[in-house]
Amino acid sequence: MSERLDDSWFTEIFSSEGSAFSLKVTEKLHDVQSAYQHLEVYATETFGNLMLLDGCVMLTDRDNFLYHEMMAHPALFTHADPKRVVIIGGGDCGTLREVLKHSGVEKVTQIDIDEEVTKASERFFPALTASNGDPRAELLFEDGVKWVDAASEGSVDVIIIDSTDPVGPAEGLFKVDFLAKCHRLLREGGVMVQQSESPLYHSGSIIRELREDMKKAGFTSVATLPFPQPVYPSGWWSATLAGKGVDVNAFREDATGGADFALDYYSAGIHRGALSLPPFMHRLLKD
Ligand code: SAM
Repeated sequence: MSERLDDSWFTEIFSSEGSAFSLKVTEKLHDVQSAYQHLEVYATETFGNLMLLDGCVMLTDRDNFLYHEMMAHPALFTHADPKRVVIIGGGDCGTLREVLKHSGVEKVTQIDIDEEVTKASERFFPALTASNGDPRAELLFEDGVKWVDAASEGSVDVIIIDSTDPVGPAEGLFKVDFLAKCHRLLREGGVMVQQSESPLYHSGSIIRELREDMKKAGFTSVATLPFPQPVYPSGWWSATLAGKGVDVNAFREDATGGADFALDYYSAGIHRGALSLPPFMHRLLKD
């Protein structure tokens, strides 16, 4: 059923794909132009609160669990024994909350370039920032590219790159020399995961190039895990894992099954299924 969109709807248009996504909004709650991006928050009729960065949907109350669980748990259940985790981006703190559910993790450092995102999340998405007081959590506000340059070699077990799309401040987070610096930062057996856009729209471009660049950066194995994400372009998203001397196409299924914390999407079956890519992706990824 199509309804003429009036100004009670927010619509994000993906002009390169000739598609769009809309949510019925009831109130504008926040609007700030930070030094890096334009941040808005709206109340919606059916998806709870909605955060935009530069007009692009970042998250909603209703479906952010899909993304945050898939950005955290596959990598943490792939690593043999993750203790030191770094999140680049992730300013809404949803991924941080998932990482902190792993009791074996001893320290998580989150580096987001824009403190306004975390401040907005504290006000309008309190469920996502509920774990920020955990003594294991360290929140820094600077450019992730610069932080990685200065960080010490072989000091991290898992790196999660939870960034905006590869444009603007996040562009540098998708470049091979940044991925090589992340590789240097990881201990042997380390795992990196990066949000890698839409399997439907980007398998033959961004995702294929990212996997090639991860290998150029020195990673020995890669795996792309698709998952549903209604509010993102095409409604289908992905996380791409890279291993430093570890095969990221296998994971600790027993540990996943025995997880003693709440999960709404991720499971051993979901992880196993996501590792089995559809034929069209194998073709486009030129595996
Ligand atoms: N789920 C979102 C997506 O897939 O687009 C990403 C969520 S998170 C809000 C994205 C974060 O990346 C933002 O908070 C933004 O400030 C941060 N970011 C962008 N470029 C960055 C950089 N160079 N260093 C650190 N953080 C960066």
